[in-house]
Amino acid sequence: MDIKSMTLEELKTMLAGEGEKPFRAAQLYDWMHRKLAEDYGQMTNLPAALRERLKEEHPLTALRPVDMQESAIDGTRKFLFALSDGNMVESVWMKYKHGNSVCISSQVGCKMGCRFCASTLDGWERNLLPSEMLDQIYAITRITGERVSNVVVMGTGEPLDNYENLLRFIRLLTDENGLHISQRNVTVSTCGLVPQMKRLADERLSITLALSLHAVTDEKRRELMPVALKWRLDELMEACAYYFERTGRRMTFEYALVGGVNDGPGDAQGLTALAGAVGAHVNLIPVNPIKERNFRQSERAQIEAFKNKLEKNGINVTIRREMGRDIDGACGQLRRRHIAEERCGLTE
Ligand code: SAH
Repeated sequence: MDIKSMTLEELKTMLAGEGEKPFRAAQLYDWMHRKLAEDYGQMTNLPAALRERLKEEHPLTALRPVDMQESAIDGTRKFLFALSDGNMVESVWMKYKHGNSVCISSQVGCKMGCRFCASTLDGWERNLLPSEMLDQIYAITRITGERVSNVVVMGTGEPLDNYENLLRFIRLLTDENGLHISQRNVTVSTCGLVPQMKRLADERLSITLALSLHAVTDEKRRELMPVALKWRLDELMEACAYYFERTGRRMTFEYALVGGVNDGPGDAQGLTALAGAVGAHVNLIPVNPIKERNFRQSERAQIEAFKNKLEKNGINVTIRREMGRDIDGACGQLRRRHIAEERCGLTE
């Protein structure tokens, strides 16, 4: 395992085994996870010989910023980072009154195949390491010079398809010896991998689990999301009920409104029943049309009517504020554009 993905305890054990003094582990951990050092050279209270050896034997993961777009409207910034192996991931930094939020990717590409999503068009490349998920937050903290208080795992990838690394990432991110972000301020979004949702419930974390629901009948959900071929809605809802029961945390249902597809009164009624049954909060997202598919956004009036119907039915509902409208391009588009340009020899 790479050194930045290790817990403090694991680091202690490893360094002790290599004959180092016990307090070196805490120093090293502090440099990596609190001072956010990018390389061993910065770790000036470690002996030079130790730094040299670590550099040789335990190379640190590092991200290289490749591109950045900033919204003139709300200051949202979209970052494209290159990983050590040259693969690229996108992360987004959003400024809210209650603090700064970062949306990170959990995989390079995605294998889930949701019809409206740009991140999955080129398929799945590999899982991100825990350190590579942390690195996105660390790099953005260094670049902006501002503290991150909320983290959402809603960028490219299916986090529950990278379960072990995700869990380790959450533990490191919320560790008191690191950035110490509150678990309550961490949201993980899933397209609905039922066994992993149940497993996550048993971890008894106080994070928020968001489910990308997007349709209220199996038939319609299967058209939009291939994952629905694997688990039916009743199985999914059972997992949601279990999650709530085990953790006491209300789930969020994400629902992308697609014009003429899932935005009718019957859909609102179905959504009321599903969300009501497990006490979920509903987050409506006007679908972000991608040029590769011909999905269109619902009309504004239709979105309002949909929201009002849910509200009248007693459902807790919000419409997702669209951040960075002007820099836009749906999630995953910045990365796709760069990959395409590279293939055509347009960059570097
Ligand atoms: N794989 C996870 C997390 C990544 S997607 C998941 O499915 O939840 C993050 C959210 O963005 C999901 O709710 C996803 O369905 C939604 N999404 C993807 N493409 C979108 C688009 N073009 N417009 C609106 N929402 C989209």
